[in-house]
Amino acid sequence: MTGRGSRLTVLAGPTAVGKGTVAAYVRMHHPEVWISVSATTRPARPGEVEGRHYHFVSDAGFDAMVARGDLLEWAVVHRAWRYGTPRRPVEEALAHGRPALLEIDLQGARQVRASMPDALFVFLKPPSWEELVRRLVGRGTETPEERVRRLETARAELAAETEFDVTVVNTEVPVAAEELVALMTGPPRAPSP
Ligand code: 5GP
Repeated sequence: MTGRGSRLTVLAGPTAVGKGTVAAYVRMHHPEVWISVSATTRPARPGEVEGRHYHFVSDAGFDAMVARGDLLEWAVVHRAWRYGTPRRPVEEALAHGRPALLEIDLQGARQVRASMPDALFVFLKPPSWEELVRRLVGRGTETPEERVRRLETARAELAAETEFDVTVVNTEVPVAAEELVALMTGPPRAPSP
């Protein structure tokens, strides 16, 4: 298997690298790509639509999904809310031969790596460490301690690049998104030696 048989792609990368923005660009410009809608215990932000951005569920609802085995992977993100990928829609998209994309955090990506090793794992990387720092602390609303913690997390997350099949650098969102789609829909990768 080269990994393209399943046509499942996992997009992950450090916090604030712009995964969500890249996925939103793909959603808008590439209707042929199916993008998973995650379940989360996080409350909806203004403008977010149930079933489109997320399935917003209660703690008990999330517990039930976990207990039933409904989630392909799940994780607590930013030590706050739980996020998970509903399994059945992914399987249905793949059964219909649609290229499928999961935009999830690193912990989730590792779980999918364990359960679906044939998927294509794409690491989204910032153009430089300085740029990631700028995107991370740009709002300037964090305390100094929080800022140090976020930077430490980002450094550890960047080190995960070697776990992935391919890296896409997010300098310009449209360019990174097109590169991602080309990887998803392009010819099979050569098997590793
Ligand atoms: P936000 O709350 O800003 O929408 O997302 C926060 C983080 O949750 C992002 O890093 C995103 O990649 C991650 N995330 C979203 N959905 C899932 C999911 O289904 N599983 C995992 N493991 N992470 C997710």
